[in-house]
Amino acid sequence: MGQRREGEYFSLNSAIEQGHIVRVRCGACRRAANFLPEDLAAIYGGNSFALEPLFPCSKCGTTDFVRVTTYSPAIADFGKITVRRPGPKKVVQTWENETFTERSRARYVRGADFRF
Ligand SMILES: [Zn+2]
Repeated sequence: MGQRREGEYFSLNSAIEQGHIVRVRCGACRRAANFLPEDLAAIYGGNSFALEPLFPCSKCGTTDFVRVTTYSPAIADFGKITVRRPGPKKVVQTWENETFTERSRARYVRGADFRF
């Protein structure tokens, strides 16, 4: 079970089945991170290409220099390599304009848990 490289179709599901780790490296920034394909599949879908960048480098903002490989971790890797896992989700409050009418406050007045 050797290393897989960009250019062949290899899904996240296949990477999961083979117990691989996905290694993402930005050649421009010289940054690298390891991901579990299980985590990536939960977000991007198991049929996604495991060997193509799923997101841009967070430092340079592009996928142009991002290379993705997968490999089978060896016993010696346990306890030694760092994997990047999903952290807590952030909720972002957005705002939008609406015309002020008598209904504008309705959602608060009619709310089930509304109390005086
Ligand atoms: Zn970069």
